[in-house]
Amino acid sequence: MSNNTITIPSDLLPADGRFCSGPSKVRPEAVQALADRAHDYMGTSHRQMTVRFKVAELRNGLAELFALPDGYEVLLGNGGATGFWDAATFGLIERRSHHLSFGEFGSKFVKASAAAPHLEAPEVVEADPGSRPDIVAGDDVDAYCYPHNETSTGVFIEPARPAADGLVLVDATSGAGGMRFDPTATDVYYFAPQKCFAADGGIWIALCSPTAIERIESIAASDRWCPASLDLKIALDNSRKDQTYNTPALGTIFITAEQVNWMNGNGGLSWAADRCKASSDHLYGWAEASDVASPFVTDASMRSPVVGTIDFDERVDANQLSDVLRANGILDTEGYRKLGRNQIRIGMFPAVETTDVEALTNCIDFLVEHL
Ligand SMILES: *Cc1c(COP(=O)(O)O)cnc(C)c1O
Repeated sequence: MSNNTITIPSDLLPADGRFCSGPSKVRPEAVQALADRAHDYMGTSHRQMTVRFKVAELRNGLAELFALPDGYEVLLGNGGATGFWDAATFGLIERRSHHLSFGEFGSKFVKASAAAPHLEAPEVVEADPGSRPDIVAGDDVDAYCYPHNETSTGVFIEPARPAADGLVLVDATSGAGGMRFDPTATDVYYFAPQKCFAADGGIWIALCSPTAIERIESIAASDRWCPASLDLKIALDNSRKDQTYNTPALGTIFITAEQVNWMNGNGGLSWAADRCKASSDHLYGWAEASDVASPFVTDASMRSPVVGTIDFDERVDANQLSDVLRANGILDTEGYRKLGRNQIRIGMFPAVETTDVEALTNCIDFLVEHL
């Protein structure tokens, strides 16, 4: 391909060209709903009832969406998923963690626990990108850590408890809201809202089991030092009052609540998961049938329903393809940079229409033929 300026016929283009794996497509209706509250919500105190009711609406909506078992609580705080890893090294891991590492995000949590001076060196089970390890019992560990969906490679793993004691901490930043799972298989299911929840980043949300809350309380009562902004006991106490320790982004909270209400109103988690499944079935089916493209994840049972990674053969330069798509208003199809493959990566979160994923593959077919 040599021509970056080719124009895709407008009847082939998706209605919305946003396919980023995070931050992901925000529904225009949610942005409009926020604009409608420009005068009595935005720019008002997060300690007053208007904002606290919104936080309560979000926490209750999430409990409904995930059908939270009795005793599970929804905590939130500032710092996104990355901030939550740091908070977890202080407030959830007692002494030694066990990690599954099969991509960028899983490996970042490993680095955070390995660097924490008050923890023992973590136990790490690795697998190559595009694959995943099994959930196994660890050796003398008190917390199991793995992503629900590895956003960098497009591989998911079904949350499950290993045959041993220990908290199960699942990084569901890209999986939460787009995939069914059994909440009783997790103690802390945490995420930031800029993926399936089609909002902005900056906050973390954690669904915590009674055992996780006991752990937070017992570590907080110990003599371990913890910075206040990462202190999960402080986050727990504030969340119970529909507050955060310091000022949250009010727009993020509002748009996340809009998305949760939208999902609940349409049929909840199974409805959202079915949308993602339909979109990704189309993408993978298209790639399997193509003679230039193929799914990067060779084992179909490991393929993510929310983030699809597609390899191209030497006849197509994937970076150039993404550039031409971008010039035509189809954004963020680039592969994960550190993976370094001739690849595109497509976010297919619940807000993305399946018809737009179909339009995207039609556009790619057009470009492959015309460039
Ligand atoms: C995006 C992502 C993160 C990082 O989220 P931040 O809110 O930017 O910290 C962590 N884990 C997974 C699985 C992700 O997809």
